[in-house]
Amino acid sequence: MNKIDAADEAQLLATIDRWIAREIAPRVKEFDHADKWPAEIVEQMKELGLFGATVSPEYGGLGLPAATYAEIVMRISSVWMAITGIFNSHLMLALAVEKFGTEPQKRFWLPRFASGEIRGGLALTEPDAGTDLQGIRMTARRQGDHYVINGTKTWISNGIEGSCFALLVKTNPEAQPRYSGMSLFIAPKGPGFKVGRKLEKLGYKSIDSGELIFEDYRIPADHLIGEVEGRGFTQVAGGLELGRINVAARGVGIAEGALRLATDYAQIRKTFGKPIFEHQAIALKLGEMATRARAARLLTLDAARAFDRGERCDMEAGMAKYFASEAALENSTESMRIHGAYGYSKEYDIERLYRDAPLTCIGEGTNEMQRLIIARQWIKRNAVA
Ligand SMILES: Cc1cc2nc3c(=O)[nH]c(=O)nc-3n(C[C@H](O)[C@H](O)[C@H](O)COP(=O)(O)OP(=O)(O)OC[C@H]3O[C@@H](n4cnc5c(N)ncnc54)[C@H](O)[C@@H]3O)c2cc1C
Repeated sequence: MNKIDAADEAQLLATIDRWIAREIAPRVKEFDHADKWPAEIVEQMKELGLFGATVSPEYGGLGLPAATYAEIVMRISSVWMAITGIFNSHLMLALAVEKFGTEPQKRFWLPRFASGEIRGGLALTEPDAGTDLQGIRMTARRQGDHYVINGTKTWISNGIEGSCFALLVKTNPEAQPRYSGMSLFIAPKGPGFKVGRKLEKLGYKSIDSGELIFEDYRIPADHLIGEVEGRGFTQVAGGLELGRINVAARGVGIAEGALRLATDYAQIRKTFGKPIFEHQAIALKLGEMATRARAARLLTLDAARAFDRGERCDMEAGMAKYFASEAALENSTESMRIHGAYGYSKEYDIERLYRDAPLTCIGEGTNEMQRLIIARQWIKRNAVA
């Protein structure tokens, strides 16, 4: 169980706040509007230890509890959500190795992931399979002490700038149930591993989303996480709690950031001789936005603390992810409306939060699926005897 002393946590968060104020806030528009990879910021993330934030100290990471980690993600996302994806997806790769890898795999890969020397992400989605992950078509066939992998992944965060991915494949495409034929590999770039096109997006700029194409990509058998076939789906599912806490924290950040922008603007902008917050229509919006942001924060920290206590928290993390992402969407829309015409201007920050928010409703399980999963678990926990 990861723990942090309260004074150390306060110091770390103060460092993060200073970094956001000095390095991110002044440059976010420049990077976001040009959809430019923020190379300097990535170097600073390495120095801050963010690529090893949740990796255990024995493997070179900071070993932060989920609650502290979520707090960092909230603070960055309140200014620029997209860049949290550069280390979030990477940490999901590291988590899969730390949780399910063999000791030699952990010793080799984790220190390199934690330092940011090797960066990457999670490659699950395919052109014909997103929600229905068991429907993937990518195959890995064993040949001696190697596997040969063929197929295509799409929408992979860090796909172009990253160099190593947790790759979900079918080692037995005929297996029933389908999940029992799935395996997860640590897949570094090399011959047979090609990068396709960079995908153009509404928001979530600067972080690359790419297609990955595998044509007779040969990978040593010791890159199979845990070195036992057929566990890939379970291994991916094992990262979902932290993954959903991640996305929830991004949603909280956007919801809080949008609220802050609206709060400032509503006090400065005057119509009919008074600041617009004094008009009841605007005050009602602010009241709802503040409540949503706070509820989203509390749900997210509640799930993160349960995770840190080692409790099962899939339902709590799902609720946090669902609520916080919808809060991000609603608060960014309302904040844009409060800004009037200026909310529609690229010179103001709110348009970025408005473009970034919808992704939080899609990633780590769409919100349609999220509600179904919550309901299923709710019934299970409240079964009539
Ligand atoms: C910017 C971005 C970054 C991403 N990064 C990554 C990444 O790093 N790695 C990765 O592997 N993937 C990534 N993804 C992919 C993402 O995880 C998928 O888009 C997501 O899982 C949904 O899959 P899909 O797009 O194929 O939608 P589909 O599965 O085709 O779903 C379409 C619609 O149907 C609904 N639906 C589907 N099945 C059901 C059902 N049984 N009941 C009710 N509703 C249902 C969905 O909720 C959705 O509304 C990323 C996506 C985006 C947009």
